[in-house]
Amino acid sequence: MPKTPLQTSDPELYNILVNEVSREDTTLELIASENFVSYPVLEMAGGVMTNKYAEGYPGKRYYGGCEFVDEAENLARDRANQLFGVEYSNVQPHSGSQANMAALMTFIDVGDTILGLDLAHGGHLTHGSKVNFSGNLYHSVSYQVEKETGRVDFDQVLSLAREHRPKLIICGGSAYPRFIEFEDFKEIAEDVSAFLMADIAHPSGLVATGLHPSPVPYCDVITTTTHKTLRGPRGGMIMMGKDSGNPWEIVAPKSGRLKNISELLDSAVMPGIQGGPLMHIIAAKAVAFGEALQPDFTVYTQQVVDNAKAMANEFLSRDYELISGGTDTHVILIDLSNKAMTGKVAENALEKAGITVNKNMVPFDERSPFITSGIRIGTPAITTRGMSQDDMVKIVALIDAIIEKPDDEDNIVRVKAEVKDLCTSFPLYSDLRA
Ligand SMILES: *Cc1c(COP(=O)(O)O)cnc(C)c1O
Repeated sequence: MPKTPLQTSDPELYNILVNEVSREDTTLELIASENFVSYPVLEMAGGVMTNKYAEGYPGKRYYGGCEFVDEAENLARDRANQLFGVEYSNVQPHSGSQANMAALMTFIDVGDTILGLDLAHGGHLTHGSKVNFSGNLYHSVSYQVEKETGRVDFDQVLSLAREHRPKLIICGGSAYPRFIEFEDFKEIAEDVSAFLMADIAHPSGLVATGLHPSPVPYCDVITTTTHKTLRGPRGGMIMMGKDSGNPWEIVAPKSGRLKNISELLDSAVMPGIQGGPLMHIIAAKAVAFGEALQPDFTVYTQQVVDNAKAMANEFLSRDYELISGGTDTHVILIDLSNKAMTGKVAENALEKAGITVNKNMVPFDERSPFITSGIRIGTPAITTRGMSQDDMVKIVALIDAIIEKPDDEDNIVRVKAEVKDLCTSFPLYSDLRA
């Protein structure tokens, strides 16, 4: 094979890239927030639109030469609207965190109160954590899940909402295995006249294909990432739908004037918090949304959920404790306390065997975020490789073998070989291997 341009000019970085391709191909990727994009998405994300400055929005740019990037961004927005049944989308946020920041800046003012899911109970940093802008710029109050059920404690949400009168409530999270209860949140948001923001960063691929309830009828604003279950390039997006009863006009926090929310959201993203959009990534989002609109993608997301359920059942039959007792989605959260094991030890031992998971706090965890009592597992990436229920049963057996004997080197070597075998049957990015 002829050498690639990178291989010729910078073999050091070329090798790093090839090693990453090989790592992705030969290990089991069970991190719930990761996925593998298609070649077309890679092609667009690695294409020449990375060269283009296009501050502004299609038809209203601060730079010339935007004819084609405008077409790409318009397609990304149209396809997003079609996919989620919304009337407005902004596809420019560089990441899910930027999408959340822009949404918060649009609806509330610095110092206002927000109510979001506690990070230690499955929430996200941007939902009011003290180490994040959302907990610094705003007065943040957190709700939790119930100990017995692992589901959001709505009595607590209501009492916190009535006590603190948040201006905005955030629903959604990063380690919540169950459907997000948009309707219950809406009732409480109405009770206290708060805006309701849905962060569907995790289940957005399931929402797009109807396998998870839609936030559109209930929420004033919806944010998501594009790289998790949606299987697009790394990035974020903001949406609004008309059926939520959203008036599309609010008193702007700064000027006190009545303004169209979609215009406020657009200007919160740019110039509010971002400069030039990543046009190669926006175009790649359009490619991914086009893929997600195909019937195949629904087959994929159904398999993601079926795989997660198969895995959950297999864990339960091996006496693992699952937060909420199972899953409705692609996420499983395991409390390892009854296995005399921490999340940190499990993550490290599994990694040695070629199984990638992340340690995760479980609700009411007594361990620190660096140790944790749990691990989070997700099926989006292995399902993209083509794995199905039978493979899930095998994978749980491999994970169990490691958790039972995390220090046994022979055992790790044996499991690693089985992981490699399984991966060989479901090749990934074969065209990119050296
Ligand atoms: C992943 C995630 C985000 C942030 O996405 P980044 O692209 O990593 O900034 C925001 N909210 C939730 C609930 C997430 O799971």
